Amino acid sequence: MEKLKIVEYPHPALRYKARPVLTIDKSVRLQAGAMLEAMYANRGLGLAAPQVAYPFQLLVMNPTADPEHRDQERVCINPVIVDRKGSVEGEEGCLSFPGLYGKVRRARSVKVTAYDLNGREVEIDAVDLGARVLQHEIDHLKGELFIDKMGFWAKRGARDAVEEFERKYRKAQERGEIPPDVEIEKTLVSLAGAS
Ligand code: ZN
Repeated sequence: MEKLKIVEYPHPALRYKARPVLTIDKSVRLQAGAMLEAMYANRGLGLAAPQVAYPFQLLVMNPTADPEHRDQERVCINPVIVDRKGSVEGEEGCLSFPGLYGKVRRARSVKVTAYDLNGREVEIDAVDLGARVLQHEIDHLKGELFIDKMGFWAKRGARDAVEEFERKYRKAQERGEIPPDVEIEKTLVSLAGAS
């Protein structure tokens, strides 16, 4: 599989509601492997499939961001948060908003059910950073972004950077480096319908 490109805001894939994975086949396994590679290459803690314009409920994560710590690595398919406890504010970034960080309030711990790459149902109890990464990535599968969840001051602080991402993106579209949104949306619909 060729190297995956992580899309940046406001790419339409980031607002597209991901479809459940119906069959865990070789293409899903290859996709997950390529996503892990892209995540480590960009020193991310997590990466959700919509961030590589793959409109399915698949995410990879490793709160250590260290490929030497494969034991901390997780691939989650069709994840659902079934329980959340506590509330804590913490700084977040996102590979689709390089260089932007802001405080987001999240549950301190979550219980998530998901499927692994072998099709086994797994239950994950995550706390602190692990819980934050899971919540951030699961939001991506719903087309929700951390800029939506920032508190008032963080949002305000991020405003100029967000507008700059939008400007840069539209300019790249004008130059023909990125296809028009309607074309991207068509591709997403046909990908999502293909499985
Ligand atoms: Zn993100």
